[in-house]
Amino acid sequence: MNVIDAQSIAGLVSDSANAMLDFLSRTVSRPSVTGHEDTVADLYAEFFTSRGWPVQMHRLAESKIVHSDRGNAETRVDERANVVGYYQRRRPGTPVVVINGHIDVVPVLDHDQWSRDPFSGARTDGAVHGRGSVDTKGGITAALWALHALDQAGVKLPFDVAVELVVGEETTGVGTSAALEHLPTRLGTIVLEPTAGAVVTVASGLLFFTVEVTGRAAHTSVPWHGVDVGPKVIEIYRALQSLGEERAARLTDPRMPFPSAVPLAIGTVDIGGWRAAVPARGSLSGRIGVMAGEKVSDVRHALATCVQHVATTDDWMRDHPPIIRWDNEGLRSWETPESDPVVRALDQGRRRAGLTSKIEGMTAGCDAGILTAAGVSTAVFGPGDMRFAHSPDERIAEHDVLEAANILANALIAWADHYQPVSMS
Ligand SMILES: [Zn+2]
Repeated sequence: MNVIDAQSIAGLVSDSANAMLDFLSRTVSRPSVTGHEDTVADLYAEFFTSRGWPVQMHRLAESKIVHSDRGNAETRVDERANVVGYYQRRRPGTPVVVINGHIDVVPVLDHDQWSRDPFSGARTDGAVHGRGSVDTKGGITAALWALHALDQAGVKLPFDVAVELVVGEETTGVGTSAALEHLPTRLGTIVLEPTAGAVVTVASGLLFFTVEVTGRAAHTSVPWHGVDVGPKVIEIYRALQSLGEERAARLTDPRMPFPSAVPLAIGTVDIGGWRAAVPARGSLSGRIGVMAGEKVSDVRHALATCVQHVATTDDWMRDHPPIIRWDNEGLRSWETPESDPVVRALDQGRRRAGLTSKIEGMTAGCDAGILTAAGVSTAVFGPGDMRFAHSPDERIAEHDVLEAANILANALIAWADHYQPVSMS
């Protein structure tokens, strides 16, 4: 039992606020775009070595996952490594709580829309600015300084705490799969992503689809000799939109009070290819959300039925049915019960920090899907607003980073207080 009170933790967090936010600023100024995580890895490793805490670098090239399709899609596997550091010490055989965060950031493809250098790391107007500040270096910084505060308070934990800083989340998730090879058994994992401080316990999954329609080309001076796919693609588009609306109304979850918990969105529509020819080819592709607990095969069936229904009302499509392609495996949905220690700890962390309970769901994919599929209890938590992620002028409010550090420190204390030793094999 740790007798340290929440007020002392808050004091320690605010005492180190400047060091914490300067560290965040320095990490943001390292452009660790996926594939180049080595530009920032040393800063994170130094956080541990400067305190005499153990830290290891696990090169992607030495993982098993690197030999999979997902691994093959990654570059520079010799240079890229997960950074895994421990709070104070690693006691072999002791169960581990893991805090997972990705150190890669998405590239900047919209320079002209930024008001300053995307990798400035500038601290102004109460925020830290730059690519990666909210997704997800702010969360990582909060986690590291939560451990710093616990150390300052002399807190001893009955479990080990590993901070697993992974590569390749924004592309394939290989970093977290590689990390699981090193630490397959865990008490639970907190995945750092911007949730605005909410404890996320459920996420819908998604499937990527393409629908192709074939007509017959003709010179546009005599269009009646052709079969125009344009109206057919538009009809399928409308039918899919209705399917999305029907699913949104039916598949609801109080933790996801959004217009839809299972968004169906069409990202591309392609019709024709030549101005002076009746379009003979059309396609549309997008994503359909999958509710936690919903069978992937049922979702595929619902979409196929919707498209087939449109085809049966059209003479041409009855004989030339649209083709549906599922573009890859998509992303799994997942859910962690509220009774799980990882959820309880984060929820109590919020309360200890003087905040109310905030348990939510999300419609985005992240490494939590990989962890839960491997049987690891997982919740997603982190400071900042997802709205600023992958966007121009990405930024995070400094106050949010401090608050998250405070919550995480309190969550680990709460977890320790309820901890029943278990033997891990
Ligand atoms: Zn992220």
